[in-house]
Amino acid sequence: DLTRQTLANIKKTEPALKAFITVNADKAIKRAQAVDKKGIDPKNLLSGIPVAIKDLILTKGVKTTAASKMLYNFNPIFDATVIKKLKKAGTIDVGKTNLDEFAMGGSTENSAFQKTHNAWNHKKVPGGSSGGSAVAVASGDVLAALGTDTGGSIRQPAAFNGIVGMKPTYGRVSRWGIIAFASSMDQVGPMTRNVFDNAVMLNAIAGHDVHDLTSSDKKVPDFTAHIKDGVKGLRIAVPKEYMAKGIDPAVRDAVENAIKVYKKLGAKVDMVSLPHTKYGVSAYYILSSSEASSNLERYDGIRYGYSAPDAKNLEQLYIKSRSEGFGDEVKRRIMLGTFCLSAGYVDAYFKKAAKVRTLIIDDFKKVYQNHDVILAPTSTTPAYDLGSEISDPIKMYMNDVLTVPVNLAGLPSMSIPDGFTKDSLPIGMQLIGRPFDEQTVYRTGYAFE
Ligand code: GLN
Repeated sequence: DLTRQTLANIKKTEPALKAFITVNADKAIKRAQAVDKKGIDPKNLLSGIPVAIKDLILTKGVKTTAASKMLYNFNPIFDATVIKKLKKAGTIDVGKTNLDEFAMGGSTENSAFQKTHNAWNHKKVPGGSSGGSAVAVASGDVLAALGTDTGGSIRQPAAFNGIVGMKPTYGRVSRWGIIAFASSMDQVGPMTRNVFDNAVMLNAIAGHDVHDLTSSDKKVPDFTAHIKDGVKGLRIAVPKEYMAKGIDPAVRDAVENAIKVYKKLGAKVDMVSLPHTKYGVSAYYILSSSEASSNLERYDGIRYGYSAPDAKNLEQLYIKSRSEGFGDEVKRRIMLGTFCLSAGYVDAYFKKAAKVRTLIIDDFKKVYQNHDVILAPTSTTPAYDLGSEISDPIKMYMNDVLTVPVNLAGLPSMSIPDGFTKDSLPIGMQLIGRPFDEQTVYRTGYAFE
């Protein structure tokens, strides 16, 4: 019944929101019937729960496109590890959600197929790149969705749609079966309506995987275990660079208000400095584009995906398939990345960016010597108008200033709702934890909720 109701809701909301690229109505019903037959386990909170999956995550026998013409007809022959784990937990995957092509973007407007609308105001962007997943949750269609976050793609759309989005520590969740963008930063994470649900979802997907060498074999705690412990005595740091001018006043006020709430709850809140924050965007775009240019070599028109029908020889097949299959933003990143890796420039750009990355990691380490968690806005602004920024890539990149340092440092960070603007647009704030300390992040978020 729940799955049928969910599918009926999606039918109602989709014409205005366009959150899904594929809805798996028949498969979802069949799975729900199978779960029913086995009997719902009352101790397993996810059994029979409909979820939505970002279309960057491989689902066996269900088209997985990365929102790219390059993969318009790609049907994976295996499930990503996170999908296997969710199936084991008993969730029902009702569909694949829209994103920026290959997760490159911050508004979901780079999808080759459709534009998704913000759940609160249809004239606004949903954020990105996991915009479809955020809207599927915020609209009430599903209780939970999976997104991916390479430079903010879970947290920023969560903030723009008033939901909870967790980017776990790099290595906490397997990347096996996630279409690769920037492998040293990509992470999968849950997007939900509240903090508790989020912890339940992370319980299901976290853990070591022999298929992903970068997945950690650290023990996975129960993320719900200490969630209600409160924040008394907790040392919270607020980086002054994240509250500087350039941050929308409504966003800053919302974070100031959260600081007051945490103080009232017994936490100790200090201003700190992360001095290399201003180099984060440059380092991120050099490193992520370099990795992307290498990861995207595999789309050659031969192995799988789009193949130009009228090429006359092999070289033409490569050139035509890639020229026709990739969108403008993807091409821009491939060009930037191959340039930064080329013999004459690798020292000046790639290696320098890698050094900046170390400085950013050290900034965070210093703060965590005396603090347990960092509180900051998720995004410099609330959701902006559809179409208003997409033609200015530099502006789009600069919007990521508050999210990318976390990815460069591999830290866990969760965006949670922090009130509204006077035009009723949601505002988000992020809680950034020590490596593998998602528990403290959840506890801090739960206390605010
Ligand atoms: N907006 C960032 C980018 O375009 C982040 C994307 C992501 O996290 N996948 O690269």
